Amino acid sequence: MRDADRRTIIAGLGAGLAVAASTACAAPRGRKIGYAIVGLGRYAELIMSKFAECDQSRLVALVSGTPEKLTRFGEKYGIPASHRYSYADFDRIRDNPDVDVVYVILPNALHAEYTVRAAKAGKHVMCEKPMAVSVAECRTMIAACRAAGRKLMIGYRSRFEPYNQLAIDLAKKGFVGPTRIITADHGFNAQPNQWRLDRKWSGGGSLMDIGIYSLNATRYLTGEDPVEVSAIESTDRSDPRFATVEDRISFLLRFPSGIEATCVSSYSSNHNMYRVTGTQGWIELEPATAYEGQAMRIRRDGRTEAQSVPVPKGQHAGQLDHFAGCILNGTDPLVPGEEGLADMRVIEAIYRSAREGRRITLG
Ligand code: NAD
Repeated sequence: MRDADRRTIIAGLGAGLAVAASTACAAPRGRKIGYAIVGLGRYAELIMSKFAECDQSRLVALVSGTPEKLTRFGEKYGIPASHRYSYADFDRIRDNPDVDVVYVILPNALHAEYTVRAAKAGKHVMCEKPMAVSVAECRTMIAACRAAGRKLMIGYRSRFEPYNQLAIDLAKKGFVGPTRIITADHGFNAQPNQWRLDRKWSGGGSLMDIGIYSLNATRYLTGEDPVEVSAIESTDRSDPRFATVEDRISFLLRFPSGIEATCVSSYSSNHNMYRVTGTQGWIELEPATAYEGQAMRIRRDGRTEAQSVPVPKGQHAGQLDHFAGCILNGTDPLVPGEEGLADMRVIEAIYRSAREGRRITLG
C-alpha cells in the first residue's frame, strides 16, 4: 500500500473513531441511567454482564416469569427484591423512580406488547431486533412512545462497533470509489426446539433473526432505503425445524442511487460478512456483525490489505451508554424506532416477493 493510501485510511479511521465518540454522547457527571431488563434469556444474560463496562448506564431492575432467575441474577447483580418483577406485575414499574429505561429482550412477538406497556408506565424503551413482527406493530410502538413523550431505540448494536463505523465512513467517503454493489451474508445452523422456529413467537425464520443483519447493513452502508426488492426462498419443509418458518431466503435490493445489494439469510449455513464494492476496489468485514473479533480487509488499486481499528469500548456498552446519553442530554438516538420500522417494511416486501415470485416496488 502506498504511503498516501495509508494516510487516507488513517484519516478515515480518525473519522470513524470520531463517529464512535459522537455516538457515545458526553453526559453530566454523577447521574447514571437505570435500566430494567425484561426477559432473562441468553442475550439478556450477556447484556447484564456489559453494564460493568458502562459509564452512564446501570442495571437497576429485572423482569422475568421465572422466580429462580430473578433470585439468581438479582443476587449476582445486587438487584433488591423490591426491584424484581414478574410479567404479571410488570406495570408496577411505573412507581419505581430508579428505572429510566425498559430494555425488552423477549421473543419477537412480545416486543410490541412490552414496549407499549413500558411507554404507558412512563419509561423510555430499548427494544431488541427485530423491532416487532409486523409494520403495523412497529407503528403502534412508535406512536405509544411518542404519546408518552418517551424515547425508543432499537438494539442495532453494530452501529456502535468501530469496524462497522469505519466501513460506513469509508463507504460514504467513496474510499474505493462510489459504491456499486454490496454483498451481505448472515446465517447459522439453527438448533431445534426453540421459539425462533415457531412463527407464533418469532414472526418468521432466518430473515427476522439473522438475515436482518444483512438488510440493516445495506441500509447503514448506503444511508438509503431500497426501492425495489426481489427474493427467493429455499426451505426443506420435511426438516422439523422448518415446519413454520423459512430456512434460506436470498434477496436482491435496488437503492435510489442505483446501488444494488445481494443478500443471504440462512438458518442452515454459517455466514457473517459484508463487502462494499466500488469502482476502484472493496471494503470487506468478516466477521462483520459478531459480538467481537471483527476483521477488515480493503482492496484498492489492485492491492489487498488488512486494516485494524482500535476498539476502545465494546459495542454493547456503547449502545447502552449511547441511549443513556440521549436521555441525559435530550437528544435523539442513532437508531430510533423508525429504523426498526424501515427494516420491517423491507422484510415484509422480501417475504411478499418470495411468496408471489415477483419484484416488489417500495414507495
Ligand atoms: P432466549 O430464548 O434465550 O430468551 C428469551 C427469554 O424470554 C427467556 O428468558 C424466556 O423465558 C422469556 N420468555 C418470556 N415469554 C416467553 C415465551 N412465550 N416464549 C419463549 N420465551 C419467553 O432468546 P434470546 O436469544 O435472548 O432472544 C431474545 C431477543 O433478543 C430476541 O428478540 C432476539 O432477536 C434478540 N437478540 C438480539 C441479539 C443481538 O445481538 N442484538 C442477540 C440475540 C438475541
